[in-house]
Amino acid sequence: MRASFEPEQCHHCESPSCVRVCPTGASYRRSDGLVLVDAEDCIGCGYCIIACPYDARYFNPETHVVDKCTMCVQRVDNGQPPACVQTCPTKVRVFGDLNDANGRLHRTLATRRSQVKKVQTGNDPQLYYLL
Ligand code: SF4
Ligand code: SF4
Repeated sequence: MRASFEPEQCHHCESPSCVRVCPTGASYRRSDGLVLVDAEDCIGCGYCIIACPYDARYFNPETHVVDKCTMCVQRVDNGQPPACVQTCPTKVRVFGDLNDANGRLHRTLATRRSQVKKVQTGNDPQLYYLL
């Protein structure tokens, strides 16, 4: 028997269904590709939880708004990698700008086979799994 492990999180989709269904604009996609939730504008309707094909969102019972992976946006804005990338003991996670031809992410995807999940959703997910 063989066991395998696969982390799951927000795929920071280029065409995110969570953003399309959000009635208040609380869910939005930044120009750098991060998909975020503005807690001030979230009314907790849960539409985005249903619309996400990756089960990436959840209702936070403490804040009464929807939460998800933010890709450690505060760290990214300070030029640091997300905490999961920095702390992964085997360094299997790579974070970067797909358009940066000299970056490690670009080089990794150019030299390794990879796939995205549920491509048929049309969400254009930006999380690549190396094969
Ligand atoms: S994975 Fe789900 S929550 Fe994340 S951007 Fe895509 S549709 Fe939205
Ligand atoms: S729960 Fe919040 S972020 Fe999700 S669709 Fe409703 S208002 Fe938008």
